[in-house]
Amino acid sequence: MDEKIQKLKANINKEVVSKFDIAKLNEFQFLPINVKNTTLFAVGNQHTNKHEAGELIKAVCGCETQFIFLPNEAFEELFVSINPQTEEISNTEQHGIQATEETPTDLNPNKEVERQVPKTFAEMNKMVGDILYNKGEITEVQLAEAMEDAKKRLEPIGSILYQMGAIALPRLRTVLSEVFNMENVTTEMFKALDKNIKMLPEDFIRENKILPMFTDGKILKVGVVEPYNTASLKEIVYITGQNPKPYIITSFEFEQTVDKYFSKEKKQSDNILKKLEAEASQLSVEDSLWEQIDKELQENSGTVAEFVNKILTDAIDLKASDIHIEPRLKNHVVRYRIDGILRHALDLPAKIEQPVLTRFKVLSRMNIAEHRRPQDGTFTINYKDKEFDFRINSLPVSGKEKMVIRVLAPAVTLNSSEKEIKLMGASERDIQKIKKLITSPNGIILTSGPTGSGKTTTLYSILKNLNTEGVNITTIEDPIEIKLEGVNQSQVNVKAGITFASCMRAILRQDPDIILVGEIRDYETLEVAISAALTGHLVLSTVHTNSAASTLTRLIEMGAKDYLVSSTLMGVISQRLVRHLCADCKEEYYPSHEEAAQIFNDEEDIQKLMQTKLYRAKGCGQCDMTGYKGRMGVYEILPISKEIRKLISQGAHDIEIEDAAIATGMKTLSQSCLNHILNGETTISEYVRVLGLVNE
Ligand SMILES: [Zn+2]
Repeated sequence: MDEKIQKLKANINKEVVSKFDIAKLNEFQFLPINVKNTTLFAVGNQHTNKHEAGELIKAVCGCETQFIFLPNEAFEELFVSINPQTEEISNTEQHGIQATEETPTDLNPNKEVERQVPKTFAEMNKMVGDILYNKGEITEVQLAEAMEDAKKRLEPIGSILYQMGAIALPRLRTVLSEVFNMENVTTEMFKALDKNIKMLPEDFIRENKILPMFTDGKILKVGVVEPYNTASLKEIVYITGQNPKPYIITSFEFEQTVDKYFSKEKKQSDNILKKLEAEASQLSVEDSLWEQIDKELQENSGTVAEFVNKILTDAIDLKASDIHIEPRLKNHVVRYRIDGILRHALDLPAKIEQPVLTRFKVLSRMNIAEHRRPQDGTFTINYKDKEFDFRINSLPVSGKEKMVIRVLAPAVTLNSSEKEIKLMGASERDIQKIKKLITSPNGIILTSGPTGSGKTTTLYSILKNLNTEGVNITTIEDPIEIKLEGVNQSQVNVKAGITFASCMRAILRQDPDIILVGEIRDYETLEVAISAALTGHLVLSTVHTNSAASTLTRLIEMGAKDYLVSSTLMGVISQRLVRHLCADCKEEYYPSHEEAAQIFNDEEDIQKLMQTKLYRAKGCGQCDMTGYKGRMGVYEILPISKEIRKLISQGAHDIEIEDAAIATGMKTLSQSCLNHILNGETTISEYVRVLGLVNE
């Protein structure tokens, strides 16, 4: 269709067009293209008055007419391309001149009407209706019908008349522009929509019928359906910090745009949900649940399968790390963890939750009849030419099942150019410390922190650096989170008796240099790790502990001899992830006393922080209105020095070890996080969310 329009556009003969009065073309809804022999080719649409247009053409050019009919949208595109009035608006737009007053083809020279701008919905409807009726463009019946509809549906009369087929869209735009003495939105503004639509929250856009369309950073040009609603314009100043300049947009185009931008994803899910519900209600009594499930299993293209696939691919697109499917009182909800925070994605109606949960079980080869015991599994889907692995786990909670699905990153290749250790949020000093740690040919290096604190990412980055031709690297993981080329990766399988410890014993016979063990969670694994380190291997692993110092005591609590810990452990990297402020919208401020006291105890420190310019989250189109974009690490690196070794073998307490480490230059998690705050990269509230309030 685009091609056809382009062709027609190229063939428009301006000389022929100029013979016609634009108002007439508008009124009869046709557009002359060119004359060939004695025939004039013209385009029209479903509203074209063929008879009148033909008569007019005969009178003007003495030709017969051949019509090419186009869908309304295509017709309008062509019409706008020749319409000097629209051109004038977009030209004068930059100069800020009111186009409507100078338009020679102004259909309503009644200046009184122009002066008096409608103040309410009812006034607008009356004025628009009156103009069209007085000009004879609509009948009395049409007017009455549209008036009543407008009142009932709370939709402007103009768009209703357009949808009734009584008037054309370009005409509606002209009338509205005239009535409100305001310019229409332009094609340029529509083109910029993509970039700016998220400057205002969806709720606000829908409620106030305002579209953020174009901005130069100071003035935000907005499309408004109800120009008399001036209060909402004031709110825009608060939301965006920019001055709004209103342009009139038809309600019809507004609704179309809102649907296009906000409902695509949602609509897709909604449509599938609707289909599913319809199917569920069709399920007759004779189909037992088992038969339904059986059917579903046979069919990979079924609606349930499609819906489940949508849940997974949306998660990938949104860069979610986990998908939670959790039972609520009436149904299940689906939530995505994005940048560490759970966000509601959709509700599963009660009728279809069972088939959806079953589908996940089928995918991951779980026992579909088992509802009372926890189960886990894995599965892979192909999406956008990549393989995505998922690890799934089901847990019975209060008589229902909860599922958590971890989205694992697609395979990455290790290439030699990426050898540098790159850790988001780590200072140059941190990197140097880590580099020094890993120069040791044997020993144990641990990363510590809760689940989702980026421990594994740090280890992979170190592995990349260590991965050279001359070494054999083997990993034991559960699950294999990132696939690395050139590294032997093995997967724990507890059901089959392959545990971290047993796998490691087997690997030690394979002559490895470096071993990565996913996690040390029991004494058995720790014991093998220690003996590997003692026999000349470098072991990398993770532990679930809160700080670097407490990791040492944790290992001893697990049952390891303190002299073995002190002689094999080379260092601990404790870490957390905080959200990174969005650079496009972060906002300067000075923290209140209350806020400063969340991260400092000392009154002097609090006072000092209150006088320090910090940044807080605000939200814009670039960051989905969250105020944050991506995450960064907060590190606490503890190399095991001679002095620390001594403390460990003396059975010292965490606090003593930590104090000794701080004395020799260790930056704690709180200090690193405070640094990120002072650098304007994260916020006090992220500090509190991730590290908690400062200790009393
Ligand atoms: Zn932002």
